[in-house]
Amino acid sequence: MSVYSKEDVLRILSVIPDPEIPVVNISEMGMLRDVLISDQGYEIIITPTYSGCPAMGLIEHDIRMTLEASGVFPVTVKLVQDPAWTTDWMSDEAKDKLTKYGIAPPLHSSCSNDVFGQNVIACPRCKSTSTILLSRFGSTACKSLYKCNNCKEPFEYFKCH
Ligand SMILES: [Zn+2]
Repeated sequence: MSVYSKEDVLRILSVIPDPEIPVVNISEMGMLRDVLISDQGYEIIITPTYSGCPAMGLIEHDIRMTLEASGVFPVTVKLVQDPAWTTDWMSDEAKDKLTKYGIAPPLHSSCSNDVFGQNVIACPRCKSTSTILLSRFGSTACKSLYKCNNCKEPFEYFKCH
């Protein structure tokens, strides 16, 4: 037992993509909270992003399969909802990747003043700040749909949370 260190386990898990935004991984998204290693095995602590986002079952499955494929077992996955996940836990790298993917990353480090439709959300493609809110809900509840007045392209804004 415990032939793998916490760092090893975190490194192995960093390949797992976010199920909704495949360009970022669960580690960069801040979903991966902790790894506890004991005689009983490896316990992976994760915090779901938005409660409205499904796919946590899928992530649990991916975590177990990925670790077992690397010889890390037995694995238990524990979902912790308190404290709740916040966009503050997303790494800057994750935010950069979102922008390149065409999704405007969360605007504030603190979300209390994230008033939809009143903030200026820059277009992730052309960086124009002339954008309008089309819908509070994009493809998922996590995102709002905007349109750029400059390049005329719609884009999603990953809401602050
Ligand atoms: Zn644009």
